[in-house]
Parts: sequence; C-alpha cells; structure tokens
Amino acid sequence: MSDPSPTLLRVALPVPLPQLFDYLPPEGTPATPDLVGCRVRVRFGPAEKIGVVAAVAPADAETPSTLREALQVIDADPLLGGELLATLDWIARYYHEPLGEVLATALPVALRGGEPLPDTATWGWRLTEDGRRARARLRAGSRPRALADRIDADAVAEAVLDAGTPGWRAAARGLHRRGYAERVAFATRAPSAGGEMPVLRDEQQAAADALRASLGRFAPMLLEGVTGSGKTEVYLDAIAACLERGTQALVLVPEIGLTPQTLARFRRRLGVPVEVLHSGLADGERARVWTACARGQARVVIGTRSAVFVPLPEPGLIVVDEEHDASYKQQEGVRYHARDIALVRARALAVPVVLGSATPALESLHNALSGRYAHHRLGQRATGARAPAVRVIDVRKRRLEAGLSEELLQALRATLERGEQALVFKNRRGYAPVLLCHDCGWSAQCRRCDAPMTVHARGGRLICHHCGARASAPRACPDCASLALQPQGAGTERIEDALAEAFPDALRLRIDRGTTQRRGALEQHLATLGDGPGILIGTQMLAKGHDLPRLTLVAVVGVDEGLHSADFRAPERLAQLLIQVAGRAGRADRPGQVLLQTHHPEHPLLHTLLGGGYPAFAALELAEREAARLPPYAHMALLRADALTDAAVGDFLGAARGILAPDPAGGDAGVAVHGPMPAPMARRAGRVRGQLLLMAATRPALHRALGRWIPQLYALPAARRVRWSLDVDPVDL
Ligand code: ADP
Ligand code: ZN
Ligand code: ZN
Repeated sequence: MSDPSPTLLRVALPVPLPQLFDYLPPEGTPATPDLVGCRVRVRFGPAEKIGVVAAVAPADAETPSTLREALQVIDADPLLGGELLATLDWIARYYHEPLGEVLATALPVALRGGEPLPDTATWGWRLTEDGRRARARLRAGSRPRALADRIDADAVAEAVLDAGTPGWRAAARGLHRRGYAERVAFATRAPSAGGEMPVLRDEQQAAADALRASLGRFAPMLLEGVTGSGKTEVYLDAIAACLERGTQALVLVPEIGLTPQTLARFRRRLGVPVEVLHSGLADGERARVWTACARGQARVVIGTRSAVFVPLPEPGLIVVDEEHDASYKQQEGVRYHARDIALVRARALAVPVVLGSATPALESLHNALSGRYAHHRLGQRATGARAPAVRVIDVRKRRLEAGLSEELLQALRATLERGEQALVFKNRRGYAPVLLCHDCGWSAQCRRCDAPMTVHARGGRLICHHCGARASAPRACPDCASLALQPQGAGTERIEDALAEAFPDALRLRIDRGTTQRRGALEQHLATLGDGPGILIGTQMLAKGHDLPRLTLVAVVGVDEGLHSADFRAPERLAQLLIQVAGRAGRADRPGQVLLQTHHPEHPLLHTLLGGGYPAFAALELAEREAARLPPYAHMALLRADALTDAAVGDFLGAARGILAPDPAGGDAGVAVHGPMPAPMARRAGRVRGQLLLMAATRPALHRALGRWIPQLYALPAARRVRWSLDVDPVDL
C-alpha cells in the first residue's frame, strides 16, 4: 500500500465541470493541510488557470501516475479559510455548482486572476532613536525640524501629515536618508467619537435592545417598518454596539440603495472608516476592500450583493437592508441569493442577522410569522410625518392623454403651484411599448426574440429591450403599406412629452435606464432638481434610494400591466413596488399624497393593499401560496437550457427528464417534475429557450433528487449542444 500521508493537491478550478482536479505540489513544497485555501497556478489543458486548493489527499489506486505539478502556490497563508471556505463549499453543494465556479464568484476579480494581495495598510512616519537624539540639532524653523517635531516614536499617518504639515514628503525623504525617520505601516483602525445618535422611539429601542442582546450568537431578525420609520437608526445602534465589542459589521444594500447620502450618514455617525464594495469600483479597489476585511482592518463594510462574500475574521453583525430587493439574487453564473447566504454565514459565524424592509419577501415573512426569526415592527414614521393619503383614480371610460387622466394632471398642477415636487411613476421606459398598424394589425416584433420592439425617439426608433437590437421605425406598414402606424401605450418618454405640453414652464426630469447609464448620473439629475418645484418621471429606479424631501405627490400610472402577469410572484412584486413608490411621498414636514390610476379599482390586490397595507396583502397572499403549494410552502429548482434549435433544447431537457427516475429508496417521494416547457420568453437573442421545473414539499427531498441528477447531466451527450444552467430557489419562472 502507498504512504497515506497527503501527497497531492485537490484543486477547485473555475471551469464548468463538477469535480476537483488533482495536482502534485510544486517541487519542494510539501502537500500539507495549511495549503488548503491557498491559490495555485496550474496548467489546465493548453492554458494556465488559477485555482484554490480545496483539500490535500494521499494518492490512491485511482491516482494516475502522470499527475502534473502545480506551477506555483501563490499565497503564503490561505486566502480562504475557516468559515468562509466552509460556507463556499456549502454554497457549491446547495446550488449544485462546481466549487471552483463558486470560489471565482466570491473572490474579487483581481484576486481571482492570481494577483498578490494588495496593500491595505495606512502608512505613517516616526522618528528612529537616532532621530530623537538628533532632533534638537535640526535647524529651527526648517521643514525637517517641523516634521521631526510633529512625529515622534509614535507614527503619524501620512494622511494626517498631508493635512497639516506642508512639504513633509521632501523633509521625510531627507530625514530617512540620514537614518532619522522611518516609514511604518499600521492598520486603519482609527476610531473617533461617532456622531450624535437620536434617542430611539420605544419600538426602535425594543428592536435595538434585542439586537444588542443577541450579539455573540446566531439570531435572525426581521425588522419590518415603513420607509422612514427609523430602521436605519436601529442598524446604526446595533453597529455601534458591534464596534464597541471590537467586532466587524457587514451591511448589504440593494444596487440602488448605495447612495452618497447613505454612505455619508454611516460615516458621520459611526466614527470609523466605512468601506464600500459595489460593482462600479475598479478591480484594485475591490481587492483592497476585500483584503482589508480579511485582515480585520475594515470594521464596517457596506456593499451590494457580492459583498456577502467578504471574509469576517472578527464577525459581529450582518444587516440586509431592503431584504426583499430583487438585486440580491444573482441571475447568471452561480445563481445565489445574497439574503440567504447572509443567513447561512450568520449562523456559521454565530452573529445576529437583521433583515430590514417595509415590504418583506413572503419567504422572510413566513419565517418570522412561524417563529424562526424574531419579528420587530416599526409602525410609524420616525419624524412624525403622516402616512401619505392614497386615492384611486378609476380611469375606465375616461379620456387619457399619453395614459394620464385629467384628474392626475390637475393634481400635478396643484403640486407645482404649491412649489412642491411630484413623481410620475411608470415602469416602462421608451416612448411606447408597441408599434401597431391600425389598418391590418401588424406590429413591430424583434426578429431575434419573442417580444415586440419598444418604440423610442418619439416613434423614430425601435429597440428590443431583451437583446438590444435596434432599427429605425418603418414609415409604412411592411405588410399592407398603410401609413397608419401608431405607437400603442405610453412609456416614460411619451409621458414626458405629454407633461412638457401640459406644463411647458415646469422643470421636468426623466429618470430611467436610458438617462442614467453613467454612474453618478442619477445624483446629477437630482441635483438639478434641487428644492424647487418640478416633476420627476421615472421607472422603478426612483422607487427608493435618494431622499426627496420636497416630494409630496406620487402618481402611479400603468399598474394594470402588473395585475395580469402569469408569474406567481407578480402580485408580491407589484405590491412591494406600489408600497415603495408610495413611501416616497411626503417624507419631511409636508403631507404626501399618492394617486393610483387604474382600470381595475376593484382588483383584490389593490383592494387589500389599500385597505390593510402590506401586512394584509401578505397574509392573503401567503394563504394563497399555501393553498397552491407554492413557495415558501414548497421548494423549487429550475433547469434552463438554450440553443439555436428547438431540437437541441428538446433533446436535452427530454433526456434530463428521462434520467430523473424515482429514487429506489423512496427519497424522491414528493418531487414533482413539470416540463419540458418553453421559457416565458421562448426565443431571445436568436436562441430557443426551454426549462424543466422541479418542485418538492421539503428542501431535503429536492436536494437529494438534485444531488443524484445534476452530476449525470454533465455526462449527457445532448448537454454538449445546449447551454444549460440550474437555478435553485428561482425567483423568475
Ligand atoms: P428607514 O431606514 O426606516 O427608512 P431612517 O432610519 O432613515 O428610516 O429614518 C428616517 C428619518 O427619521 C431619518 O432622517 C432619521 O434620522 C430620522 N429618525 C429615525 N429615528 C429617529 C428618532 N428616534 N428620533 C429622531 N429622528 C429619527
Ligand atoms: Zn398594416
Ligand atoms: Zn430582441
């Protein structure tokens, strides 16, 4: 028998294959367990790849004799260790993705590419012993003397010298040459007194007390409170407590919630450096923040989805703000949900995790109502502002101008006359959703997608919102040559035009993906609005984020489209959106008003929502989900496939379904398979799309089935002719 001590490295590589890959360690490096979590450079086929050592193992009978050596071990100490590596391994198993792909998803791009860990230290200068003896001999009034007087045996940070000691860099170089001064690194732990915290109201205090009491152990909490009810103050209180204990806090926010206002507020209040992570940062900066977390130098990190993967060697608290937000779900590659991972990590790290929202996801609410999470409610707006009054405008049989009723225009006029701001909310960008021939019924469809082209540029251009295809609008109908082509319905562009006509002198701002592509563009737009009267026209980009204290009227047009969607989550999304948009009205001293324009004033969703608010809606919706055995009362996984032909997709999904035989031990009882069926958009960007849905009453049943099934899919011949992916707990069906 061979020697059982480890001789080879099992490496996780970012390739779409489910297994680990064995390598010998580089010459002269023993395969010891402390290599686990280190990055290695290896040859893989004709290319070089960066992987992570997932395990070391003894060679066994199956080890080929021709194993290659890894080219290089990149890290002296494991980059991924302890809890984080264990959690990532759990994620790989839960989402049934290769560990190497999960590791690549979790690491910042620069580190993924094998770059050395960046410098995260703050540099400072101090006097050497020689320097302290020589100080008095330096010419009084000279810059070297000024610097020598400023620094001492204790180092002073370069940033501090920059602020108060002119010309210090040249002086420092001079002192250094003579051996009088040296540059030293010290960690960025510069706590200062934080800003004033307000006195919390009773319900805030109760939540804050509960969080403080649960520091040091796993304790999930749902903090449900309307916008402006003071959730952020509760987070800030708990983070302050977490910092006092010498632990780190991680705060997750939606893409759109990471505004300069939010950051400034955290920085001002906490009195420690607050690090930021989001997709708009340069690779180097992302690697720096990640590494500063790993070294314990970053004490508070605010970030979007992928920040859920930062290392937390001294964990204290995890916050997920706006926990219902769709941007927490990654929709490609490893399709993880950051809220779920925050919970898994909090459990592994033994820290409290607080999920905050005015409109909790039904999954979270279900967990709170069933006692798995503590549940705290904040019922009132903290500033004493009244909840906005909601009025439904029944537009059946009314004349509409670009979808706007006369009543709505009047309300806008009154708002402008009071010197206040209004928001017209329409969740469709562009001029109109469809271009239609009035004579023959032809409509402009995307050639590569099963979807109509959206009309832009006042009817002049057609753009497909799904594949980006562009065309100029035809002047005559391609089918009947009629000139009666008409844009149908209204998007934000058309509404803006109509408002320009109605209020030619008013300041108008259109905010949608078309007008805010550059980072920071949204801030700039809002700055031009300032405090004066004006009208914002926008999509759901405006549903949250920036504080708009002068906004007193919110007019919602076109909710009706959302009332008719086939997706079982559509009502939940619509209710959340309506509540979030409505919450924008009247945040400060002025009362707010919400107008809801609809052709379905009696629709049960609107009825319940208006009568009892989100809690009433959620209770009803949960009951319906339970009756229909839908999540959170069932668990789903979706296998998606796309290819150039129907046949390729059909063959793969058919074969996949074929091998999903019931477990002989009865473990698959309760797993139902639906499909193969076309995806909701059966053709997109020229590719045919199909799917297979698995549903189970319990998670273990689902995962037992997936655990047997997924490895076999890689081996299917038909898998080579499609792109396929698995989505565990999908949010879009
Ligand atoms: P949310 O996060 O729920 O939207 P915030 O925490 O941002 O609410 O609070 C809304 C506003 O009310 C903020 O300006 C905040 O400073 C203020 N505020 C919150 N709690 C209090 C309090 N207890 N006393 C005074 N002002 C408060
Ligand atoms: Zn026609
Ligand atoms: Zn298209």
